[in-house]
Parts: sequence; structure tokens; C-alpha cells
Amino acid sequence: MKIYLGLGSNLGNKRLNILRAIEMINEEIGTVSVSSSFFESKPWHFSSDEMFINAVVEANTQLSPEELLDACKDIEKKMGRVKTKENEYEDRLIDLDILFYGNQTVNTERLTIPHETIEERDFVIIPMAEIAPDFVHPVLGKSIKALADSLQISAINPDNR
Ligand code: AMP
Repeated sequence: MKIYLGLGSNLGNKRLNILRAIEMINEEIGTVSVSSSFFESKPWHFSSDEMFINAVVEANTQLSPEELLDACKDIEKKMGRVKTKENEYEDRLIDLDILFYGNQTVNTERLTIPHETIEERDFVIIPMAEIAPDFVHPVLGKSIKALADSLQISAINPDNR
């Protein structure tokens, strides 16, 4: 199945964290076919002095959606993400989100695919528009490019470092 994963880091060596996570996705989830460039964005729905580095990757996986979630959590754990506050946004070494699992929708207690409110998240839409502008959001019926064009505010910049 072709999947899209969103990556974010706002602690430590953020660029290296993203690169390492991409390597681990390749090893534990499936071949990464394309990855976006890196973007810098402001923390979303929580305050922190640390900006995020974000990227989106496309990969092919044999894992089911549930297995994929477990694999993502396993990578986050191996990379040392410490969750201190339940159900709150906070600083993180690495965050992996399942954005899309082919055209499938999943709605269980653990999993919402497509990832919720993707269309409002510039740090997801802008990188993904770079690698998959024509991918159509299976619920909204709009391409990623169309969603990028209708984003309201854009607090995201190319990471030029
Ligand atoms: P996070 O704080 O971003 O690590 O997400 C916390 C929880 O969101 C996870 O433990 C998952 O159970 C849940 N979740 C629901 N939908 C998704 C998705 N599409 N990708 C990743 N996590 C998800």
C-alpha cells in the first residue's frame, strides 16, 4: 500500500532526527520512495520556544493500518520520545503521523485516517504538495495542491540551513 507519513521534530538535532526517522521507516515500515524537503514551522496548538522541522515521506508498506501505527510508535520510542502529558501537544524529538493509507479511511478508537484536520495543517500540506500535489484526499475529494492553495495562514518556511 502506498502511504504518506508526516514527520516533525522540535528537540535536539531536529534535522538529524528527521533523517534518522526516515532511515528507520525504510527499515521497519517499507521502502521510502520520495521525501519532501525540510520546512520550519511554529508549534501548532501549544507554545514553545522551539520551532519544528517538518517533512513528509511517501513509502510502500505491507503493514496493516494498525501494524503501521504500532511501527510508528515503536520508532518514536526507539528514538527516545518521552511522553509526559497525556493528550497534550508538547515538545518532541520525533513525531510520526499517518497522513494517508492509500485511499482508505480508518476510524477506530486508536486511529483516524486520513489524519484529522490535515487541511488546516500547513506543516503537512506544504511539504506534501511538493511530492504529491495530485494526490486526492479521499474524504474531502480535493487534491493536495488545491488544499495548499486554499490554506489561510502560512506560518511555515523552507528550511534553508
Ligand atoms: P501523537 O500525540 O501525535 O503521537 O498521537 C497520539 C495518538 O493519536 C496515537 O497514540 C494514536 O493512537 C492516535 N492517532 C489517531 N490517528 C492517528 C494517525 N493517523 N496517525 C498517528 N496517530 C494517530
